[in-house]
Amino acid sequence: STRFEGKKAIVTGGSRGIGAAIAKRLAADGADVAITYAGNQEAANVTVGAITAAGRRGHAIQANAGDPAAQAAAIGQAIDSLGGLDILVHNAGVFEIAAVDQTDSAAFERIFAVNVGGVQAGTAAAAPRINDGGRIIIIGSINGDRAFMPGLAPYGASKAAVAGLARGWARDLAPRGILVNVVQPGPVDTDMNPADGAIAEQFTAMIPLGRYGRTEEIAAVTAFLASDEASFITGTTIDVDGGVSA
Ligand code: NDP
Repeated sequence: STRFEGKKAIVTGGSRGIGAAIAKRLAADGADVAITYAGNQEAANVTVGAITAAGRRGHAIQANAGDPAAQAAAIGQAIDSLGGLDILVHNAGVFEIAAVDQTDSAAFERIFAVNVGGVQAGTAAAAPRINDGGRIIIIGSINGDRAFMPGLAPYGASKAAVAGLARGWARDLAPRGILVNVVQPGPVDTDMNPADGAIAEQFTAMIPLGRYGRTEEIAAVTAFLASDEASFITGTTIDVDGGVSA
């Protein structure tokens, strides 16, 4: 499709997994796309290759989303190279198991720095420059609403936090027609959560559809929220989880 023809998009953490699928989908639908990544330059280049193969402009910027100054600089640089911004997708995220008796506030700080701090710093940098009528989409998690198993408190709290940010920003940015929403995936087959990983059998047993999600299935919903068709949706969360939360 060409529904994003002339649109400019940023996807944080676009080198692998869900973010790579989102970047490719937005490009396939006509957008120029800049991605950020933490360290995997080879994978970032593969995503940019797919964007340019779709006939769109692609850029990759290395930046640690957990460092607010670096994240703000990367978003600014991405907007400069794109020549504007219409769609900002906050996807970069980290996952760690940390139960309450593992008294390690370092885990909490690592998770919150990337999953919440990166989203805050990126939106703050983008808000003055994103076009009216634009979109901000955050990849949260169904763990923002439900814990499902022990050890998910810090990760779940980080994903609950971004849903709170989205509700607030939806009101802040509504006068400019900028819509802010959260996509909350269930288990999706990526390096973070491989469908053949140690914990996968336990997860799959919780999924009514009986399988992991595919990155493309998260990308499809993200692209829908970025599109004109989602023009009356803001400040909410959408579960894409094969029924786990049902
Ligand atoms: P992956 O671990 O497969 O990929 C993570 C991506 O984010 C990579 O591109 C990575 O870059 C980038 N990234 C990680 N940390 C940073 C950082 N500090 N700064 C910049 N970029 C960073 O993860 P997924 O694709 O599985 O997850 C994407 C999002 O979806 C996350 O927010 C995650 O919490 C969420 N999610 C995932 C689920 C799943 O089951 N997979 C379920 C629910 C939510 P690099 O390649 O350079 O390392």
